[in-house]
Amino acid sequence: MTQLERQEWDVVVVGAGGAGLRAAIEAREQGARTAVICKSLFGKAHTVMAEGGIAASMGNVNSGDNWQVHFRDTMRGGKFLNQWRMAELHAREAPDRVWELETWGALFDRTADGRISQRNFGGHEYPRLAHVGDRTGLELIRTLQQKIVQLQQEDFKQSGDYESRLKVFQECTVTRVLKDGERVAGTFCYERESGRFFVLEAPSVVLATGGIGKSFKVTSNSWEYTGDGHALALLAGAPLLNMEFVQFHPTGMVWPPSVKGILVTESVRGDGGVLRNSDGKRFMFDYVPDVFKEKYAESEEEGDRWYEDPDHNRRPPELLPRDEVARAINSEVKAGRGSPHGGVYLDVSTRMPAETIRRRLPSMYHQFKELADVDITAEAMEVGPTCHYVMGGIAVDSDTAATRGVPGLFAAGEVAGGMHGSNRLGGNSLSDLLVFGRRAGLHASQHAAEHLGVSRPVIDETQIDAAAAEALRPFSAEGSEPGAQEPGRPPENPYTLHQELQQTMNDLVGIIRREGEMEQALEKLAELRVRARRAGVEGHRQFNPGWHLALDLRNMLLVSECIARAALERTESRGGHTREDFPAMDRAWRPVNLLCRPADPTGGLAATDPVRGQIELVTTTTEPIRPDLLALFEKEELVKYLAEEELYE
Ligand code: FAD
Repeated sequence: MTQLERQEWDVVVVGAGGAGLRAAIEAREQGARTAVICKSLFGKAHTVMAEGGIAASMGNVNSGDNWQVHFRDTMRGGKFLNQWRMAELHAREAPDRVWELETWGALFDRTADGRISQRNFGGHEYPRLAHVGDRTGLELIRTLQQKIVQLQQEDFKQSGDYESRLKVFQECTVTRVLKDGERVAGTFCYERESGRFFVLEAPSVVLATGGIGKSFKVTSNSWEYTGDGHALALLAGAPLLNMEFVQFHPTGMVWPPSVKGILVTESVRGDGGVLRNSDGKRFMFDYVPDVFKEKYAESEEEGDRWYEDPDHNRRPPELLPRDEVARAINSEVKAGRGSPHGGVYLDVSTRMPAETIRRRLPSMYHQFKELADVDITAEAMEVGPTCHYVMGGIAVDSDTAATRGVPGLFAAGEVAGGMHGSNRLGGNSLSDLLVFGRRAGLHASQHAAEHLGVSRPVIDETQIDAAAAEALRPFSAEGSEPGAQEPGRPPENPYTLHQELQQTMNDLVGIIRREGEMEQALEKLAELRVRARRAGVEGHRQFNPGWHLALDLRNMLLVSECIARAALERTESRGGHTREDFPAMDRAWRPVNLLCRPADPTGGLAATDPVRGQIELVTTTTEPIRPDLLALFEKEELVKYLAEEELYE
């Protein structure tokens, strides 16, 4: 029997980014005793990297904006595959969530008449992104953190203990969601510094662990993005939705190699930056797809006039949704019109005075100066696509953020699927975190209250022993456990396995996908999965990054398999999924969702076929879009997206 500390809470929130913190605040405000647990230091979640802003139709800069326009833009951006109820709730509630942040102390940039300023971004019809320079995520996290401290101070006044009702466990990792029968019962965790195991018991668990980018070689994502929440949900029995949709942001740094993939915010284009190829041509005018033709400028002159007079001109095509721009850059480079380091040029130096660039884009100015020795006020940046965001994720109920089939398990933020369809618009993640973080916290606390009134879930020892054995496997030199290192066979190096995984995903399941390559990827993933069972580490449990990576590999491999399987299945191109062999969007695929489920529903991995894989793919039909929401679009537009039978209905 594994000896470890157990603590009882009402709600456990896994992740302290925007979604996790907003969920925790809500759960605590609803009266639930709430624990937040995060891999990184408190205040250092990936959300702090968010640059451009939070999308919310406050209409401060253009009064034409409202939730219906935001809803339309989001659905168009997602190529109508969005879980429409989520897109509706998001568009309706985002302004309130931004105002609320301000009442909690956030300091947004202002318009000349003192309102919260809003900037342009790709795919948004009006200036919509509330921002703090290009450091919006930092301000969001700072504000939520401040709110948490304020709540803890209130608790101290009442109980003499700051952490009596809201406690943060920082630098701790969850490796398993524990259950009592079908329902959630808590989490198995380890402290990264000491390696100590502990269990947080709770009837409600909210997964808010962010994305999956570290499965790809070139990515803008932080070290935390190893798909943990996706894997935790799968292993607990909750399916993942449409995992084939991975967003490649068009503008990551391409040079020097050590910083390849680091993001160049879309605000650069929103504020007037233009893309050029090696011939100096603004090539985006050649890449406006038919579905967007009426909404985008046909000439450079018109595009440029739009910045000053958006009511009488159309947007420049540099502000098309990200999937379109990423594919266009990819095509230019492939056609031999790229920059010296395999990207294209993004120029603000000829578009704005140096002083304006330094004021509006301070982080970009410093990023290029310090990392690439490029002065963006004097020369163009070199940029290219980078793995940025996963639209697929845990399948959730739109209103409650509850996962499917696992009572007590909720998910919010990037780890949850559905909201963004096949492609996310910039700025729609920070608003998503706040809208659905709050909803997850609300419903998790309600679920906990209902269940605590009846009986607390009970965690049996065998689950804890199994979780501990799984976590310790990388240290065992030999044994009979499936996956234990075999005597005489050298252990596998987790860093080597990770590199091979990243290369595989980048090369074979990347921005442009082909059937044969994805089949090759699945074979390679099967091989890596078998080898990962022999991943071994030296040393002890005190802060041991090799061990942490060995544990993260399980998650990255599971998630990568889901992406490759679903991408192979979807024989069309849509949003963040581009098939060279099926280059067009196929309306027949519009109402189709692909769900990944664990092949072994008990959550064990050893029993699954090492070659066939660990997950099974199920096809389901999306819920028909509500008629009053469909009525927000012109019929001619719907004809381009909806399947024949949907139009008939
Ligand atoms: P995160 O903020 O990543 O938080 C995840 C949390 O989970 C972390 O605390 C982590 O430690 C914890 N965690 C993970 N696994 C475990 C585990 N096993 N156990 C315990 N804890 C765990 N979006 C916008 O809308 N606007 C922008 O301007 C914008 N700019 C961006 C710029 C960059 C460079 C990048 C990379 C992304 C940007 N995005 C932007 C996207 C956006 O930042 C993310 O989608 C969003 O921050 C995700 O928030 P989250 O709360 O879901 O997860």
